[in-house]
Amino acid sequence: MTRRIYLDNPYLLEFDAAVVSRREHEGRPTVVLDRTAFYAESGGQPWDTGTLGEARVLAVIEDGEDVLHVLDRPVPTGRVHGRVDAERRRDHMQQHHGQHLLSKAFVEVAQAETIAFHLGSEVTTIDLDRFVGEEQARAAERRANEVTWESRPVRVSTLSAAEARAQGLEPPEGVEADVRVVEAEGFDRQPCGGTHPRTTAEVGVVVVVALERYKGGTRVSFVCGHRALAAVAKRRGVIDRLVSALSAPLDDLVATAQKAKDDLVESERRAKGLLERALEGEARRLLAEARGDGPAPTAAAPALVVAAFDGWSPNDLRGLATRLVALAPCVALLASRADKAHLVFAQSDGLPHDVPSLLRAAVERLGGKGGGRGNLAQGGGERLDLVDEALARAADAVRARA
Ligand SMILES: [Zn+2]
Repeated sequence: MTRRIYLDNPYLLEFDAAVVSRREHEGRPTVVLDRTAFYAESGGQPWDTGTLGEARVLAVIEDGEDVLHVLDRPVPTGRVHGRVDAERRRDHMQQHHGQHLLSKAFVEVAQAETIAFHLGSEVTTIDLDRFVGEEQARAAERRANEVTWESRPVRVSTLSAAEARAQGLEPPEGVEADVRVVEAEGFDRQPCGGTHPRTTAEVGVVVVVALERYKGGTRVSFVCGHRALAAVAKRRGVIDRLVSALSAPLDDLVATAQKAKDDLVESERRAKGLLERALEGEARRLLAEARGDGPAPTAAAPALVVAAFDGWSPNDLRGLATRLVALAPCVALLASRADKAHLVFAQSDGLPHDVPSLLRAAVERLGGKGGGRGNLAQGGGERLDLVDEALARAADAVRARA
């Protein structure tokens, strides 16, 4: 059995202990000590890290009455000096005690009970048994901070399971004796095996950063103490960059961002209209060019439009092709030289060509692939230099069939 120093004194971070047994855990050397200040992961609070002699402590795990220290290298038998990482411990004490205060505050302001707790590496979450809204969350946050700033003493006591139940405290599952109760004086009492500060003031500040609906209740994400500072710094950094990117003072930031978004939607709508008109004009110009002084194209003598563009997207090529084949009986063989070569082939309804196989033959010459169905096919290849030749061969094939 390992005596857990942190239960009596969570501020004692250096200690000497005797190695009681040496084991292996998932391929790592592991020791059990007669006493330890290292907190073993449990009840939502992660383990402490630090050193035992020369070895780094990678994980601390409960194994019945024993505490396993999983190490990066073996330590010799005999006595060993332990040193718990102080920053991580203080962080966990701030977050965990802040959780007690916030959970109780949610009971007070919304009758919402905490049913799960997870102390994560960035934010801590509690899951409440009912939905709470933004206003209730702000009220609970305010209440938790009042209690924090009142510097109420935090006390730990040990009760029998019967005593705990008599006082309305349900002991953790499987615990029948020595129920450890953590109390923030006059505010909150609950069974807990975690590390807690001497007074509520050490929590510093409690900030709720997100609310989301979760399993019929609410998942509340929050940060306490130094993490709250880090969260503010991160958000300030983002806001400063937005202020500079949008050239708007803080107070106008939201309105400016909304206007930029609205303007973009309007610009896109206008651009789409202009593009459609441009494609329509281009289609008419190409058809007029293909006709020259000849008669208007008919199903028996359709127009053949062959054209290559620079930098057009496959979407725009397709838009042009569909307009061409709709305006007059027509076979359209279109290409674009962009990041690679794009081809779009199309014909009007009722014309006899096998458009997909015309296209496949052309893109094969360009070292690429493509396909399609019925009267429209598209594809692309890497050989920009062979675009004109591929179009000319496809045009020859169309003329030969006509
Ligand atoms: Zn706790």
